[in-house]
Amino acid sequence: MTTPISTQLLIAGKLREGRGDVNIVTNPATEEAVAVVNDASELDLREALTAADAAWPAWSREVPSERARTLRQIADVLDDHREELAHILVEEVGKPIVEARGETEATSGFFRYTASLLETLTDEIRYTPNRNENMWVRRRPHGVVGAIIPWNYPSALTSRKIAPAIGAGNAIVLKPDSNTPLSSLAIARIIHDSGLLPDGLINVVSGRGSTIGAGIVESPITQMISMTGSTGAGKAILRAAARHVKPASLELGGNAPLIVMPDADLTLAVNEALKSRHANNGQVCICAERFFVHRRVYNDFVDLYSAAVDRLTVGDPHSEDTDLGPKVTRDELNKTLRLLDAAVQAGARLTTNPGDLVGEQFERGYWMRPAVLADVDDAMSVAVEEIFGPVSPISVFDSWAEVAARANDTSFGLSAYVFTKDLEQAFKASDDLSFGEVYVNRTGPEEINGFHTGFRESGIGGDDGPHGLDQFFRRQTTYVRYGHA
Ligand code: NAD
Repeated sequence: MTTPISTQLLIAGKLREGRGDVNIVTNPATEEAVAVVNDASELDLREALTAADAAWPAWSREVPSERARTLRQIADVLDDHREELAHILVEEVGKPIVEARGETEATSGFFRYTASLLETLTDEIRYTPNRNENMWVRRRPHGVVGAIIPWNYPSALTSRKIAPAIGAGNAIVLKPDSNTPLSSLAIARIIHDSGLLPDGLINVVSGRGSTIGAGIVESPITQMISMTGSTGAGKAILRAAARHVKPASLELGGNAPLIVMPDADLTLAVNEALKSRHANNGQVCICAERFFVHRRVYNDFVDLYSAAVDRLTVGDPHSEDTDLGPKVTRDELNKTLRLLDAAVQAGARLTTNPGDLVGEQFERGYWMRPAVLADVDDAMSVAVEEIFGPVSPISVFDSWAEVAARANDTSFGLSAYVFTKDLEQAFKASDDLSFGEVYVNRTGPEEINGFHTGFRESGIGGDDGPHGLDQFFRRQTTYVRYGHA
């Protein structure tokens, strides 16, 4: 990487060190320090919020097509830095370079897609019961949006918040996760250096959730919160936002079922399941987390899938041949290993190579070999909790009614996958599965123009597509009488 890693925060149009805690960002493959970030203090946060509050009114008066033009320019600038952003992802997340490059495509893509929506934006004029009178129902920005993101897609999620927030005419104060602040800080620097936006419109402040995150949610200046992260943190944020009657759009955890019907194309199902479970080392909200396979194809699926998992390459995330890098933190590694061990203790059958990873590179870092578990019971913690790691629990079913009920029996409701060649079954999947996203004969990632939203405890609202952009607006009705009644 040629450009030095950015560690400065973006506050009120200036790049500078924070005056809060010192945060050492660690490379999960080596446990070595990648960078030292001085987090925001409470005073830094107040300055960012105040600057954002001053910046949005003038920006919001730009016509949407003008804001769109700027967003397209930002996308081009981000594209010029794609390789730099990809390498930061390898360093701070441990994400394999090929996947990291894919993520940076989305980083600029969110700006371009939001621009396309702004270029075709419409509002409503409605009639009242009176002559010479009508009402304008218009989209208006909230003002200052507070945005909070997790560590698994720190580059794409930074854009997924900033692009629709400022596209809608708001300013934004964004907080990355403490494990992975560097992608957000690099994007902040790139946008700052481009000179395309007014000072204070975008602010990036790093810090802990309990201090800086909570401060963003509690501040009377933020008029809307957009958060991506775990269901536990989402609930805490929703409670805090409720105290101020502040809207909160929450993209939270998942526990996606992947269902293989007896008529499925088994090769397709195996390949898609492999991709879905192991993308970003299993650390994706929509990863296939629970596998249900019809009895008629159960043994074949388990054999084919287990063999495919054993062929995955675990290793240096800088290498283009690597499928799985390290887990992001020791805590995440230990959680996944705990769920795996508990399932084996409870009687699940390990069908992949259980050996240790051998070699000098595995002596430090948060490594594990991917594992497949057959004959899993729905009550096992590996089936109930979000694993967020490369462990695939598989169980058998006999009928659609049975599997739909078992798949729906979760407090999560983000995404579900079904493999079948039967069109009628595809409609049944959409009708019967109570999840915000249902995929038939494919897995994620979700498309930018869909609506990535969770049912139940997987969230409220979302950022993607036209419905996502709408979260960043509120509606105002203006009654206009223009003549004598
Ligand atoms: P996390 O909830 O621990 O942290 C996410 C962010 O919230 C961090 O920036 C953290 O500092 C902040 N935070 C935590 N508590 C807070 C509080 N009380 N007030 C304000 N901010 C607070 O999540 P994580 O473990 O970093 O991320 C993994 C989770 O994110 C998984 O559950 C995953 O499914 C979910 N996720 C969901 C989506 C989606 O689109 N639905 C996408 C990516 C990740």
